[in-house]
Amino acid sequence: MTESPEPPSPPVRFKNLPLAEAAEAIVATGEPAFRAKQVIKWVYQKRVDTFDGMKNVAKETQRKLAGLFSLEKLPVAAMIPSPQGDAVKFGFALRDSPYSVESVLLIDGDRRTACLSSQLGCALGCTFCETGSLGLIRNLTQEEIVGQLIGIDDYCAAKGDRLVTNVVFMGMGEALSNFATFRSTLAIIMDGEGFAIGGRRITVSTAGVIPSIERLMREELNIGLAISLNGWSNERRSAVMPINKKYPIETLTAVAQRYFRKTGRRVTFEYVVIPGETDTEEAAQSLKKMLGVLTCKINLIPLNPTGTAAVSPTPSAMTRFAARLEALGLAATVRISRGRDIGGACGQLTARMHARGKAASGRPPEGVSSP
Ligand code: SAH
Ligand code: SF4
Repeated sequence: MTESPEPPSPPVRFKNLPLAEAAEAIVATGEPAFRAKQVIKWVYQKRVDTFDGMKNVAKETQRKLAGLFSLEKLPVAAMIPSPQGDAVKFGFALRDSPYSVESVLLIDGDRRTACLSSQLGCALGCTFCETGSLGLIRNLTQEEIVGQLIGIDDYCAAKGDRLVTNVVFMGMGEALSNFATFRSTLAIIMDGEGFAIGGRRITVSTAGVIPSIERLMREELNIGLAISLNGWSNERRSAVMPINKKYPIETLTAVAQRYFRKTGRRVTFEYVVIPGETDTEEAAQSLKKMLGVLTCKINLIPLNPTGTAAVSPTPSAMTRFAARLEALGLAATVRISRGRDIGGACGQLTARMHARGKAASGRPPEGVSSP
């Protein structure tokens, strides 16, 4: 009896390999270390999706690597530019799921900021947040997170525009709950052979997953940290952000102060303004008491109406509250809600069903267009 030949193993998805492993995998094929660097640059800086596009790599090596690794891109399922031209929302299709991943490119002067998603849905269930209403569907992989950045850079390059200069993890999900993948993705974003975007131009926003904030400090990444506060007392915050029961406000302010001492970077407290609820005089006084002793910033975000919370503040209500906080000695800024009209502002991202013409949340898709 003859043995049946072993089925060929499927190609390794190169962008799922942490940077060091990707380099080792190339070297393990018999190539020198500099070849690994060349390939990594082609993948993340030139954004090629086949090995035959790698001009300084010999044809024979290209063929060998093509048999071992896949460089497939995340397909763009939808792309919606805002009428003002200051934002573009992207929907990326996933290979194994009917859901799509949403990301946003924010355009402001010379700055091109990619707002990336780290999870499909989110387990933390904040009541005002569209992503939270889905629950956690699953963590995104490294390939799916860098894939968003590649797709956004491709868009910028096709327009003859500059590539992404800044990255914020403020899209779908809680990056610090997907820590290992977030960390390996950061390494690619920051590396000189990767996207070469420095820690000063990267910010992660968190609902306050303290053990992961501690890890960021231990690893001395020096990226920007934003903590979503959104409540001016533990009682209020717990009512809208269930994670507050585990990590209450006093633990967040303490870790923020340590983050500042350790990194020299002031933590931003994000604070969603809900008219009549979070912008009262009592709220302002309480914020002063909680944050006045820290070296931090407060970023006021207008509530984007979602199913459960429907009223957003007027621009003048926003500036009035910011002025009140300033008068109390706090450093408060108002976030310009870019991308709001295309459903691409804070808290508006949601994993839509892309193939079925139906929103995952049960709502119809809003103006989803093909690229
Ligand atoms: N999970 C992380 C990052 C994603 S949410 C976090 O919670 O920080 C990014 C920001 O959007 C957070 O500051 C959150 O408070 C805010 N946000 C969520 N829903 C919102 C809504 N409906 N209107 C305005 N901001 C919202
Ligand atoms: Fe998750 Fe952040 Fe939304 Fe809360 S605000 S549900 S932590 S994505």
